[in-house]
Amino acid sequence: MGLIIYLNGSLVPEEAAVVSVFDHGLLYGDGVFEGIRAYAGRVFKLAEHIDRFYQSAHSIMLNLGLTREEMTKVVVDTCRANGILDGYIRLVATRGRGDLGLDPRKCPQATVFCIAASIQLYPAELYEKGMAIVTVPTRRNIPEACNPRVKSLNYLNNIMAKIEANLAGVAEAVMLSADGYVAEATGDNIFIVKKGVLYTPPASIGILEGITRATVMELSGEKGLTVSESLFTRHDIFIADECFLTGTAAELIPVTAVDGRTIGDGRPGPVTRDLMTRYRDLTRAQGQPI
Ligand code: PMP
Repeated sequence: MGLIIYLNGSLVPEEAAVVSVFDHGLLYGDGVFEGIRAYAGRVFKLAEHIDRFYQSAHSIMLNLGLTREEMTKVVVDTCRANGILDGYIRLVATRGRGDLGLDPRKCPQATVFCIAASIQLYPAELYEKGMAIVTVPTRRNIPEACNPRVKSLNYLNNIMAKIEANLAGVAEAVMLSADGYVAEATGDNIFIVKKGVLYTPPASIGILEGITRATVMELSGEKGLTVSESLFTRHDIFIADECFLTGTAAELIPVTAVDGRTIGDGRPGPVTRDLMTRYRDLTRAQGQPI
């Protein structure tokens, strides 16, 4: 593809952007990351992504070795180097190179890299018609073990769920919490709409506090819609009027069936469609200039 990658202080050709096999990001999934989008020459919600990146790093006691301002510049410079106006940006920090033991004290310096490219998560027609999803046997990690609020490189939980979605022949899986409440999809948050009220699981249940989720909550508030962060079950999705997923890569995507049950009338609902339009407009209206 011939991309230019930011790696540990330099912008280098993709072929030269290599990390050690002793990097603990690779050996142990010891690291954190962000997925960010650029629209029309601006990086959307960059400050929020940088904040979450530093919060994730702080939680796992990883010193990123750069200030927030420097990290912001890393993202913008990587977009610029690749001529990216619309694209998807992956910012990653690992514990760095260590030995074969898992002790992070053996890793003196974090590995930081940034990729600016493009992504197409779900086929375009799913945005028009809505998609079918399933709930899967794999439960979301419990917060007391590997907290989903940390956007860490440990995505095996999510990948197991994705494999189960693939086996079921659908594009996405919803994971439940250990207690059986709806948590989130493999790379997206979930909302349902019932009688004009939006519901989304609370962060305390063990989910990533999505930046798109927060944006949708703001957009809903602007329209006078109530958003309730509350526990709900599969049954609540079955009987919801509408359902959609949110994520930086996915944006808002309507869900029209779950576990074989049709949601509402089986088509993307009015609340979902209105939020999709207003989210799209917002992405084109603000952001950090590249
Ligand atoms: N949940 C998980 C597990 C994720 O990985 C993501 C991001 N891909 C999200 C939710 C959505 O978060 P955001 O809106 O910040 O992209």
